[in-house]
Amino acid sequence: MKAAVVRSFDRPLEIDEVPVPEPGVEQVLVKIETCGLCHTDIHAARGEWPIKPSPPFIPGHEGVGIVERLGSGNSHGLEVGMRVALPWLGYACGDCRYCNTGWETLCLSQQDMGYSINGGFAEYTVGYARHVVRVPDGVDPVVASPLTCAGVTTYKAVKISGADSSRLVAVFGAGGLGHLAIQYARITGASVVAVDINDERLATARTVGAEYTVNPTQEDPAAAIQRLGGADVAISTAVSPRAFEQAIASLARGGTLVCVGLPAENTMQVPIFETVLQGLTIRGSIVGTRHDLEEVFELHRRGLTTVEYAEIELDDVNAAIEQVLDGSAPAPRLVFRMQPVSPAGHNAKAVPVHA
Ligand code: NAD
Ligand code: ZN
Ligand code: ZN
Repeated sequence: MKAAVVRSFDRPLEIDEVPVPEPGVEQVLVKIETCGLCHTDIHAARGEWPIKPSPPFIPGHEGVGIVERLGSGNSHGLEVGMRVALPWLGYACGDCRYCNTGWETLCLSQQDMGYSINGGFAEYTVGYARHVVRVPDGVDPVVASPLTCAGVTTYKAVKISGADSSRLVAVFGAGGLGHLAIQYARITGASVVAVDINDERLATARTVGAEYTVNPTQEDPAAAIQRLGGADVAISTAVSPRAFEQAIASLARGGTLVCVGLPAENTMQVPIFETVLQGLTIRGSIVGTRHDLEEVFELHRRGLTTVEYAEIELDDVNAAIEQVLDGSAPAPRLVFRMQPVSPAGHNAKAVPVHA
């Protein structure tokens, strides 16, 4: 099968022919239809985080496809032919205090798709049956892909943030994650201000519900947001510690910063005095559970969210990474289409789509 493989952190990904993986006990083999390119895949391919994957590996944790074969043992209700998503949380033990209190995303025994186990930048991927999530009828795979990480991650971040109808939520970074964070914040009824250094992303932010936008290259976002009364919640998905620092400075008294982005530069400066006197909260948020993802799919099926994406081919993976990094990507999320779909012509290259 064809796959995009990271062989070394300092080299581009290679498009290789590799064997189709075998589903083991309680695993399923999935024929991938689509897989989004998350900024995490770029951090992974470049070894930018303190805990690094081990090359060679196949990135991708927004894989969506059709169950082709069941491994031995319990298949947890899955059947051949079902459409499923393979999210970041590829495996959690199911026994520990985290798994049993709704926090399987904190499980110390977890394995992560496209990081510690091979992911969806391939024609086939193996997943643990218990951890793949069914995609409901009526949700297109190319849309389900961005929902599988960007969606569930920001849905969870909004869920834990305390956002509600009388709050101002600031979303720093309006890319793949951020454009969905804006929408989940709006679903709570909150008012949203979006912050991004890329004017095209701010234009999209407005179309998906941001009432205010700020470009930090043109004005100080903290001052602009304080003029609005200060943010009760700031969610930072930006890939820069500076944005996190500006997000703290944008908070109203009693406000909460939810850290979601994972920039290669791993430290931010937090002023102790202001944090104490203003009663600020800073918390991290890592992806979401299988159940959160089911809720994300349901919200989309009900027509409450829009995914802004452009389709690309796996062969163009390295060019796509450059486009995400230099801000020239034609949409907030790029999605690889693995198998050509009929009728011919639908598989258009890098055309932004709203769905
Ligand atoms: P992306 O590249 O699509 O979006 C990042 C956005 O931040 C871009 O629009 C960019 O223009 C903007 N940006 C960059 N510098 C900025 C600045 N100084 N101020 C404001 N905006 C700025 O990336 P993505 O796929 O949305 O991922 C974002 C981050 O979230 C990555 O670090 C990724 O690894 C991380 N992530 C975390 C989780 C989690 O569970 N916590 C899950 C998925 C991704
Ligand atoms: Zn991701
Ligand atoms: Zn566990």
